[in-house]
Amino acid sequence: MILILLGPPGCGKGTQAKRLEESRGLVQLSTGDMLRAAVASGSEMGQQAKKVMDAGELMPDEIMIEIISERIDQPDCADGFILDGFPRTTPQAEALDKLLADKSLELGKVIELKVDEEALVERITGRYSCAKCGAGYHDKFQQPKQDGVCDVCGSTEFSRRSDDNEETVRSRLAAYNAQTAEIVPYYGAKGNLVEIDGMLDIEDVTVAIQGVIS
Ligand code: ADP
Ligand code: AMP
Repeated sequence: MILILLGPPGCGKGTQAKRLEESRGLVQLSTGDMLRAAVASGSEMGQQAKKVMDAGELMPDEIMIEIISERIDQPDCADGFILDGFPRTTPQAEALDKLLADKSLELGKVIELKVDEEALVERITGRYSCAKCGAGYHDKFQQPKQDGVCDVCGSTEFSRRSDDNEETVRSRLAAYNAQTAEIVPYYGAKGNLVEIDGMLDIEDVTVAIQGVIS
């Protein structure tokens, strides 16, 4: 099964992708995570990505298409994957169609998570994750069971993304509205699109997604 989780930054794509990964055995392909790995490696592309991400802008389409094309050829994607953060522009959506057709793969549901803009800002500015295993948390909405200890791996170290500040969030939301929102009707016209209320609690969103893909 190939799914796309679509929606603005902070709508819950990563949170839900990780849950689907566990329950369905699908691999989460987060282009944001891939770019952050490139930044950490210090590669030339990583240095470019750091500037673009900190400005809240989008990386060039050719680079992102190349990254995804190579990634979906990896053996762990053979049983299906969830795209989280890709496609983000119409050229990326068109390139994905071609990539999948060339590989005789069929796109399943495109799940749009709808969340109010002010809620997005609150979600993003309160987001943090385990520095060791990457499990996601939120200051208010998703706290570890034991204060300061990761539920998943027991680590006591956490980190926040440098682009998760209010100013960059506004730029990222503007980029979403200007460049990404137009792919919602693109998938609507193709018949893959399903809209889900992303304002619900995390568990209720998961239940809604499970209902759509089962
Ligand atoms: P995205 O991957 O779309 O940018 P995340 O999944 O990282 O978004 O979610 C952003 C933040 O909001 C995280 O800190 C997460 O814990 C929290 N969050 C995710 N879904 C919900 C929800 N349904 N209700 C409240 N908070 C949520
Ligand atoms: P995310 O982790 O999905 O919030 O992405 C973080 C940042 O990575 C974005 O603000 C963009 O700068 C960049 N990025 C991630 N995915 C893409 C993509 N598909 N196209 C262009 N830029 C991307």
